[in-house]
Amino acid sequence: MEFENGTQIKINGHNSNPKRFTDDEIGDDHFYTGIDTPLKPNAFEISDEDKKIRIAELFAEIMDVMGLDLSDDSLRGTPNRVAKMYIDEIFSGLHPKNKPKVALFDNKYRYQQMLVEKNITFYSNCEHHFVPIVGKAHVAYISSGKVIGLSKLNRIVQYFAKRPQVQERLTNQIAIELKQILNTEDVAVIIDAKHLCVSSRGIKDDTSATVTSYYGGVFNTPDKITELQNYIKD
Ligand SMILES: [Zn+2]
Repeated sequence: MEFENGTQIKINGHNSNPKRFTDDEIGDDHFYTGIDTPLKPNAFEISDEDKKIRIAELFAEIMDVMGLDLSDDSLRGTPNRVAKMYIDEIFSGLHPKNKPKVALFDNKYRYQQMLVEKNITFYSNCEHHFVPIVGKAHVAYISSGKVIGLSKLNRIVQYFAKRPQVQERLTNQIAIELKQILNTEDVAVIIDAKHLCVSSRGIKDDTSATVTSYYGGVFNTPDKITELQNYIKD
């Protein structure tokens, strides 16, 4: 949070606005500050179980402030359900312990062309509004001698999607992870997604979608981009 005179406040020791744009300047725009998900240094000192207890308490308070009757049978369990969903499911990709373990195999078939895993459906959440981002990821690489199980490409996408995200960061985080695992620059990631903060609120545009891409190594050439685009078009 930053006030107009430039004074910044820190929340729990974490600078909430390191680039020093005011909240007014950012407004409703999506704003991307860097490749790493902004986490506090002590993000994992609290156990998952303790986080769920705390989130349930706080979510109950939000509901209470909104005037909802938490003694109603339908609402009573909601704070606990939301807390469990946040930690165990939709934001589970914040915790490094949930990162998929990846085994590599020798490229026995000596397959030298690009491998494309397309139409990987994912659900993420916009970190500016905490509403869903729903989309498809297309992931491609050219083997530098090792290959990865196809389901692992999917799991890597899901891991980074299960965080509060912006689409640009999601794209780059998947690409950088794949480059490290596969020991090659020859990696591409294309993401085509709908942001519910754009379609269901704010400007209420239900037809627009956002496309982001990362073309590393040989993928960053017109020929390879055309080849890849041909594979992923419906
Ligand atoms: Zn948003």
